Amino acid sequence: MQRIAIDMDEVIADTLGHYLERYNSELGRNLTREALLGKRVMEVAPPEDVPHIMKYFQTAEFFSKIGVMPGAQEAVRDLTGQYEVFIATAAMEVPVSFAPKYEWLKEHFPFLPSSHFVFCGDKSIINADYLIDDSVKHFGRFRGEGILFTAPHNIHETRYRRVNTWDEVRDMFL
Ligand SMILES: [Mg+2]
Repeated sequence: MQRIAIDMDEVIADTLGHYLERYNSELGRNLTREALLGKRVMEVAPPEDVPHIMKYFQTAEFFSKIGVMPGAQEAVRDLTGQYEVFIATAAMEVPVSFAPKYEWLKEHFPFLPSSHFVFCGDKSIINADYLIDDSVKHFGRFRGEGILFTAPHNIHETRYRRVNTWDEVRDMFL
């Protein structure tokens, strides 16, 4: 069986959606996905907002409230019929996220065994045939094929096969 490794944030988890909702309501801004094409929030937010935004990634509660990307649950479940599916998240970047990310996966992807959750730093350690991720930084040294999941920040990237939705992932693999 071939193996597919799947990222969490911006792939199965709508982290940006939650981020924008909180940021806009708490600071009275109107930042949209369209304004983020080719950019990260930190690059477009006014500098005075940055300390407030930084705090999001220091609280476990931020991670537990993130929604699921549309269609991800059904598509991932279907993939498990034909592939070994692992969730690979660079959680080392945000240690406070370990416990809430684990709970989030158990809640939203209960059909995946926790032995298939990989909380890592450098994803080149992942021994899979495919890695579905929104960050190209993980593709350079990955041994399999990186499949880019569209997010506003990666819209100008052209080096990798791209999927825009979970329906497209299903079409590519099933
Ligand atoms: Mg990601």
